[in-house]
Amino acid sequence: MTARGVAILGATGSIGTSALNVITRHPDRFRAVALTAHANGAALGELVKRHAPAFSGLSGGDGGADVLLAAATHPDADIVLNAVVGAAGLDATLAALEAGKRVALANKESLVVGGQLVLEAARRGGGTLVPVDSEHSAILQAMGAAPASSVRRLVLTASGGPFRASPAEVVRTASVQDTLRHPTWSMGRKITVDSATLANKSLEVIEAHYLFDLPWESIDVVVHPQSIVHSFVEFVDGSVVAQLGIPSMELPILYAFTHPERLADMGIPRYDPVAAGSLTFEAVRHDVFPMLAMGIAAARRGGAGAAVFNAANEVAVSHFLAGRLSFGGISDVVGETVDMLGSLAGMTRQELLDADQRARAHVEGLVPC
Ligand code: NAD
Ligand code: MG
Repeated sequence: MTARGVAILGATGSIGTSALNVITRHPDRFRAVALTAHANGAALGELVKRHAPAFSGLSGGDGGADVLLAAATHPDADIVLNAVVGAAGLDATLAALEAGKRVALANKESLVVGGQLVLEAARRGGGTLVPVDSEHSAILQAMGAAPASSVRRLVLTASGGPFRASPAEVVRTASVQDTLRHPTWSMGRKITVDSATLANKSLEVIEAHYLFDLPWESIDVVVHPQSIVHSFVEFVDGSVVAQLGIPSMELPILYAFTHPERLADMGIPRYDPVAAGSLTFEAVRHDVFPMLAMGIAAARRGGAGAAVFNAANEVAVSHFLAGRLSFGGISDVVGETVDMLGSLAGMTRQELLDADQRARAHVEGLVPC
């Protein structure tokens, strides 16, 4: 058997690094054939030395969009891992699916911004979409071969982030440093902030809606601080199936590469129920974390609602990280932007990108520089 070619978009990031660990453990099964990074040429250079891909490039400079597209459609790539952060990943997801690739999707923003377009691209090009997000990987695994009609409800788990139990007024003024201290996962900065606001969980509900073709009412969220149960599927007969594991993104990455098969991998931490201890569950505090409901409501409006929410959130998070916006300010400016622009049309790629740009500009206007 020849090793399957993997293109990694965003190879220098948290997911990219985990994916290269997986690939390194299975040289007979996978090889890196294309690697991209945004701006860190030195870090990319190191990866190129180690993995000798046929193609590599920086997406941050002139012609950056072409770099992503070239990697996403590279002839040697059987699998395209989209591990870019933000709406910037959309076009590469579309191109890879159009080219018939298996897309291992970490870039959930692709589905949030252009869910319908992404599904159509897969149909047209014959590509397949396999989630990397741990919750969606869990659902895919728990679902097995069951038809969608046998599912009553999905329950996505959320760690609750670093402020799960903090008083509302402490959360509103939380520092960048405390926000980046995630209790269970080590990830890139943007998703770590999203995990603290619960915006990440709204992106994931939207992602699940498109991936599993279920109505909004059938997707719930529960807080599970230990991040061991990665999500639940409740079937129509009342049976509930969950997928468990020690939090490590290497497992869902590997599974996205091999689904529906499994590959032995002793490098992934094993779950010991006694050592791991209690598993607890609690309700989301919607009053303290308004972004979960806000993102879902924006998506339910249809059109460009989800794209506007996503773009506003991306810009708000970058201002928060730069110290120009308080933690509570993130949901304030995103809420204001969604109220203003959430009903923009979003049938076509161009309409979605226009709405994305207008939302970004609107947030810029709200944040004092
Ligand atoms: P990261 O910030 O660690 O890495 C992002 C990568 O993308 C880097 O290689 C960077 O160079 C590149 N990049 C940044 N901006 C870009 C742009 N505008 N265009 C092209 N490339 C760009 O992020 P991450 O934590 O690895 O997350 C990547 C994606 O995976 C995000 O969509 C995130 O939501 C998703 N995800 C991450 C985790 C995790 O555990 N880190 C879990 C689930 C889903
Ligand atoms: Mg997740």
